[in-house]
Amino acid sequence: MVNTQQKLKKYLEEIKKNDQKGNKINAFLQLNPNAKDEAKKIDSKRNKGKLAGYIIGVKSAINVKGLNASCASKTLENYKAPYDATIIKKIKDEDGLIIGMNNCDEFCLGGSGETSAYGPTKNPKNLRLISGGSSSGSAASVSANFCDMSLGSDTGGSIRNPSSHCGVVGVKPTYGSVSRYGLIDVSMSLDQIGPITKNVNEAALLLSVISGKDENDSITRDSEKLNLREIEKIPKNIIVGVLEFKIKDQRIQKLIDDKIKKVADKYGWKIKKLEMEFLDLAVEIYYPLVYVEFFSGTRRFDGRRYGRRIEEVAGPEVLRRILGGSEITRSEYHGRYYHKSLKAKKLIEEEFENIFKKVDCIITPTIPRLPHKIGEKISVKDMYDYDALTIPSNLAGNCAISIPSGEINGIPVGMQIICDKFKEQKMLQIARSIEKLDI
Ligand code: GLN
Repeated sequence: MVNTQQKLKKYLEEIKKNDQKGNKINAFLQLNPNAKDEAKKIDSKRNKGKLAGYIIGVKSAINVKGLNASCASKTLENYKAPYDATIIKKIKDEDGLIIGMNNCDEFCLGGSGETSAYGPTKNPKNLRLISGGSSSGSAASVSANFCDMSLGSDTGGSIRNPSSHCGVVGVKPTYGSVSRYGLIDVSMSLDQIGPITKNVNEAALLLSVISGKDENDSITRDSEKLNLREIEKIPKNIIVGVLEFKIKDQRIQKLIDDKIKKVADKYGWKIKKLEMEFLDLAVEIYYPLVYVEFFSGTRRFDGRRYGRRIEEVAGPEVLRRILGGSEITRSEYHGRYYHKSLKAKKLIEEEFENIFKKVDCIITPTIPRLPHKIGEKISVKDMYDYDALTIPSNLAGNCAISIPSGEINGIPVGMQIICDKFKEQKMLQIARSIEKLDI
């Protein structure tokens, strides 16, 4: 049995050396002051849970009792979580150890990790580059070997995006499969919490612990239990959908296309080309929804209950969305933006449902471009376009995973595998089959 205390010690040394000093990756905003005692308690247990020996980082947007769920914002600088989110409770019940709170984009808005009020998270694979976002610290801490696994949240790509850039595995589960109770939300019709790990099997393990119906989140429902042993089985007769939609960076497209071909040849899977009518509208559909839902959610940060008034202390991206959200809400009696976006969201959902009658999964690059240098000025549009291939699954509510799939100039590139709602078992089996080919 793994010794949690020894493992924790090793990780804390690593964090001291490369997160707080040295490389200063800036993946953690706070370490759990009780971690050593908690590790001792876990080690002394006779019957240990499924996650005993696993050391876990948590995005600062998730409530962990006694720790600072700051959302990397000055607004919540002094907010000590008064309770555990449902998923944290489940993790603790299975003896997982929370090592600390991860850095992220402020209020989870961003795709680079640069909007945090506490400075950007560096990419452990290349310290001059962004780590991706918004779950920047969660992905970087796994990639830098500061912990075994972490939790991120994904509204439009925030788990898959940094996982792709940092060379780790990240899962956006089906909407409604993991409780969001205790997550400080961006956009409640799109958000999902999910695991970031070093390999597919560990993602499956963590997902098996955190999924399931929760009476505190009425959207959740029970789905088929994940069979962890079956993940090793290579599924037969798989039809892989690939999109006609081509991204600008041909190097990324080629790397993924070649890999899909190799995988299909090896396992006898079929490849089917697909066209999606509404795919290139996804980013435009997504933002009005997020602006409005985020704006409405932030009305509680009025300075009376949770620290400071958001408009007084938040950074430009947060303010842009509050302003945009309030404007859209004002024009809404014409149903111009929000309601139109909701209708278009439904079209995307239906389009995916039809496609999944013909194929088992869709494989794409996770991110259409390589990460930029920290501090490099890029336009708002370019920043939003980072998520062009991840947003569609949030709009449709599907599950999707990003797995490392090679490198370009030493920078990791992720492959995204999208499956139909509640088909996590199949998705993880396909992902594991592909992951195995690299061994
Ligand atoms: N980059 C996207 C945004 O800024 C996604 C954020 C997320 O998934 N939390 O809205």
